[in-house]
Amino acid sequence: KVRVRFAPSPTGGLHLGGVRTVLFNYLFAKHHGGDFIVRIEDTDQTRFVAGAEAYIFECLAWCGLTPDESPLHGGPHAPYRQSERKAMYSQYAMQLVQNGQAYYAFDTPEELDAKRKEFPNFQYNYQHRTGLRNSLMLSEAETQLLLQNGTPWVIRIKMPDNEDIRFTDMIRGDVHFNSSQSDDKVLLKADGMPTYHLAVVVDDYLMQITHAFRGEEWLPSAPVHVLLWQYLFGLQHMPQWAHLPLILKPDGNGKLSKRDGDRLGFPVFAMNWTDPRTNDFAQGFRERGFLPEAFVNMLAMLGWNDGTGQEIFSLPELIERFSMDRVHKGGAKFDFEKAKWFNQEWIKNTPVQHYSAQVKLLFEQAGILITNDTQFETVLHLVKERCIVLNDFVQQAAFFFATPQNIDIAAIKPKWDEKKNQFFLELIRAFELTTLWQHDELEKELKEMAAAHQLKPGELMLPLRIMLVGGKFGPGVFDIAGIIGREATISRITHTLQ
Ligand code: GLU
Repeated sequence: KVRVRFAPSPTGGLHLGGVRTVLFNYLFAKHHGGDFIVRIEDTDQTRFVAGAEAYIFECLAWCGLTPDESPLHGGPHAPYRQSERKAMYSQYAMQLVQNGQAYYAFDTPEELDAKRKEFPNFQYNYQHRTGLRNSLMLSEAETQLLLQNGTPWVIRIKMPDNEDIRFTDMIRGDVHFNSSQSDDKVLLKADGMPTYHLAVVVDDYLMQITHAFRGEEWLPSAPVHVLLWQYLFGLQHMPQWAHLPLILKPDGNGKLSKRDGDRLGFPVFAMNWTDPRTNDFAQGFRERGFLPEAFVNMLAMLGWNDGTGQEIFSLPELIERFSMDRVHKGGAKFDFEKAKWFNQEWIKNTPVQHYSAQVKLLFEQAGILITNDTQFETVLHLVKERCIVLNDFVQQAAFFFATPQNIDIAAIKPKWDEKKNQFFLELIRAFELTTLWQHDELEKELKEMAAAHQLKPGELMLPLRIMLVGGKFGPGVFDIAGIIGREATISRITHTLQ
């Protein structure tokens, strides 16, 4: 059975790259009827950030990507937080030490710093480990003595020199590394906490992960992981790796960063995120007014397509069509205009009931109370084609529920005359008597009266619109009058004539 995992470290909010990794994991698992597991990799306590884990689960829930197993959802391989699995890792590290594939290192930070100063390209590996304080250099007795004395230690993997390490990446095909290029990564610290490198291999094994997708930035660590798989498990059941290409800046020049978003005015995080350590704020797609369906759709297309040219996909469709062999090798350029296009399409093609509660909240935040939900939804339906993000609804439809504060008189004035004034005064009187207050009836009334005044209806529509709406926008003017009702229509016309 296919089993994939998203394995975030709770170090901050999720940016586009992170959510896309989740998404590709999820799509692949669901396409194959497999399990999607979320494992929290929190062994590096120095990088732990309060709130980050909660953010990750809130984000998954918003996107509709429900894990089958996770710290929140439970599962047969619990616990799913590495800090709670601490006791499981040391035996594996000890096994490596016994087999001569890993060793104790006692070097103090100062000693390592001194080496780094001495050798600009210092790597703790075959080149330098001879000059350092570790169990490869010390006698067994010396090592035991240091351990007994409580000297701080770490266990490091002993990277072989000049060996070819290879594996097949699902996206990149055959990948080769020379083992000498990697340093002897720390696997376990004296407090029993593993580092990412040991924990990821042990947990992928214990949790029976079949496919491991992660960002391209992890590619340089892959040889260490492959070697650990070989040493610990004889490569039996090693997951198939896929290193997902980067999401690039709009100009294609390097990896997309939060700074690009700040500079160009678009979000790169899924949801708002404030770093509790720095108070640094990042805006999210959710709060910018994106529908989760659009966000997910847009992300799927950053590096994948189904080959048919189709761009709009629902999550079930993505699950059905997704295949790893159509994920591009190269990075995908992020284009905010395109992201907005996806959202616009989704707003247009989704029944308003689906997002009306959220939009209602936005109206309330703007100080406009909505009392009639059915009417509210009618309005949303009328204006949805004009909205790119959910927040646009407020701008596009506030006038339905509150008298516009600023009337663009300048747009009426140039062609205004007494004749028109008379027309509208009479229109008010007619509207007072209209029996059936609805679109067709109101249109008929205006047209007949225009004919009687020898005016063209076309000349009267724009002034009427501006009286009712405040500006040159909005849906059909008789739809508007029909919805805001007789009283508001008459009072807005009267108000502008004064
Ligand atoms: N904990 C790693 C991260 O935060 C996960 C890498 C992996 O999936 O193996 O990116």
